[in-house]
Amino acid sequence: MRMLLSNDDGCHAPGLEALAAGLADLGEIVVVAPDRNRSGASNSLTLDVPLRVRPLAPGRYCVNGTPTDCVHLALTGFLPHEPDIVISGINDGANLGDDVLYSGTVAAAMEGRTLGFPAIAVSLLDAEERPYETAVRVVRDLLTHLPKAGLPSNTVLNVNVPARPYEALLGVLATRLGSRHRASGAVADHDPRGRRIYWVGSAGEVADAGEGTDFEAVHRGYVSVTPLQIDLTRHAVLPSLVRWLGGLSSDG
Ligand code: MN
Repeated sequence: MRMLLSNDDGCHAPGLEALAAGLADLGEIVVVAPDRNRSGASNSLTLDVPLRVRPLAPGRYCVNGTPTDCVHLALTGFLPHEPDIVISGINDGANLGDDVLYSGTVAAAMEGRTLGFPAIAVSLLDAEERPYETAVRVVRDLLTHLPKAGLPSNTVLNVNVPARPYEALLGVLATRLGSRHRASGAVADHDPRGRRIYWVGSAGEVADAGEGTDFEAVHRGYVSVTPLQIDLTRHAVLPSLVRWLGGLSSDG
């Protein structure tokens, strides 16, 4: 098995190193990851400056770009061989509910999926001590069973792992995305020259952590696996939109 690994915490992040080390015996691993922390980069591409790939070690590369840049570059020209799967993570912190809109971890997996490869995003919940080995074992379990999953090809798996020993996990649940309330306000301050600056505020509190959500699963101590699709079309609304737009043009 050939695995392309990336992340959004950067090529030196401990979660990525743990993942690469923990999967090494399963096949050939290539790591292509941002040269610094790009958490929150979402699905952005760098189009204003050239990208440079810097080798760190055999099979390990840093790129001066976003997670999406890394996977895009790897799959569209940099790698001599196509991988069998793209795995992004292990992210420091959860990517639950609305987080997936901003997450570079999820974006790296989405880019792999968009370019035609099976893809998994893996995040480990916040904790003082991060048990990366728990998330590594979860990924190994998923990889073992993935060929039998029968998932449609346009699916990305978003995996969130509670921060506890592997033996203390209660199991693995298929989930839907929950949601958060709107984010807390931007934090205003002044720079040393008296000019106004802002920090983006923290993520909103949980709004929908109801039954079947990713929030609920991890809160209960289960690994959450949410199937994500890249098509954002709200199909259920199409018929009423067709009627409304038809009315607009006949009024015209
Ligand atoms: Mn991150």
